[in-house]
Amino acid sequence: MVFAWKILLITVAFAVVVQSSKLYCISHGNSRLNVEKCTTSKNRQVSAAALTNNSVTATVQNNLTFDLICKSDPLTCEGVSTTFSKATEIISSVFQFETPLLINASFVDFCQEYGECTNDEQLVYIGKAHPSISYVMVDTSDNMTRMYPQPLLKQFTDLKIRPAWTLYDINAQFNSQVNWRFANNANPINSNQTDFLRNVLHELIHGLGFMVSWSDELYKGLSPLFQQDLDPFITPELLALTANEQLLNEYNSPLPFWGFVEYPLDKYLGYKESGNFHSYTSITSQLNQFYDSNVLFRNIVDMANSWYESSSYNIAKQVYARSVSQQDVLAVIQGEVVVTLESSVKPFLSGASLCHVDQSSYLNSSDYLMVYTANRGVGIVELDQLFPDGPFGPKLKRVMGALGYNIKAVKTIRPTLRYWSPPNGLVDSNSNPTPSLTININGPAKTPTVSSSSSNSPVSTSSASFTTIYPHNHFLRYTIHLVLLTSLLLSL
Ligand SMILES: [Zn+2]
Repeated sequence: MVFAWKILLITVAFAVVVQSSKLYCISHGNSRLNVEKCTTSKNRQVSAAALTNNSVTATVQNNLTFDLICKSDPLTCEGVSTTFSKATEIISSVFQFETPLLINASFVDFCQEYGECTNDEQLVYIGKAHPSISYVMVDTSDNMTRMYPQPLLKQFTDLKIRPAWTLYDINAQFNSQVNWRFANNANPINSNQTDFLRNVLHELIHGLGFMVSWSDELYKGLSPLFQQDLDPFITPELLALTANEQLLNEYNSPLPFWGFVEYPLDKYLGYKESGNFHSYTSITSQLNQFYDSNVLFRNIVDMANSWYESSSYNIAKQVYARSVSQQDVLAVIQGEVVVTLESSVKPFLSGASLCHVDQSSYLNSSDYLMVYTANRGVGIVELDQLFPDGPFGPKLKRVMGALGYNIKAVKTIRPTLRYWSPPNGLVDSNSNPTPSLTININGPAKTPTVSSSSSNSPVSTSSASFTTIYPHNHFLRYTIHLVLLTSLLLSL
């Protein structure tokens, strides 16, 4: 558990074929299960489920389709398939995908498949979805490095060079051990049922890119090194390079810091203070001043001590405070406040905080879809009665358009993107393969004892939190790699 925190673990293939081009991508998978490995796209491993003989290919004729693995009785699987078809139809009626997208969907017993077991039905994980892969891009409009989920990047059809896309754009898993109501059930939903269509739609919106990079995972990773309390803080994902994933499992391994990277949605986050708007992106830039995002620490303890005394740590604490203060965090698009994001959960909860809209503001509005609780007994059929324009409210559509999707009557924003690559002189990269190690023993961080290192963070998320939360804690399941794609497709 030394590195339970998320890090952009990047493995590099240095044996580069002349004239090949590099792309840096990130595979979103379950690190505990090693479900996903991001290799070259041609040889990319797809989930085991997709390789079974039970695969059902959707017959829906639209630009959003799915392959489904259903491990349940035929009647249930019919309900699952019907609901997925309905969900993709609904999404396709709103999103005009310029490049077709394919979902890798599964409906399985999470206890059997993933070891996520509980005897308390209230605590059952209901589902999770995430983009299959993201590409590290530079948004030239503000020169920020951001991870573009494949389904979104596919819509940037003017890219001069395109990756060899991985087969699936979104991975979506749902737990068969939930009392679901499916779309082919004509009976009214009862109070103990969870609407499958509502959850599928919600999760697929995450899979399309409604996700933030900010989390407390670095805090959780560093906490065991401190005797006294390390104050909670959040940061975007760490971008780091190592030639060997195993290095991160030892306290004595050198640790590079390359800075933090955002997702496209992070570009619009911010808060107002004294009438001024402070964007989270500007905070990311400030955090990236930590050792100029180019340092190789002797080990994580040296990094922890350096972080502890840095101004970045103070800034990260301040943004934490904002992010657990209800209705303080906004999504602002082109100068206009579009939606208030979820910041009422305290302590900060990755997978719930910031990557949803504010529960209290929107649960009973046309923008109900992306609140973080899934109240039972209320399904899309019932909500359609209240909000006849469908599950995608005007605010959500504006946000998705601002990410780059083409949605009718909504402004699409697509900045010019270029592929990120390590800048010249970056530690631990080809241009600087053996930099000097930075050592900092003048601080409170110490190598933890076995007992303390094996304990969880003091801000471990309460399991009770998952009673009603959409538990798509994407960030907890990253295995992230740098990928060398030697087979780029040149567009015309
Ligand atoms: Zn969610």
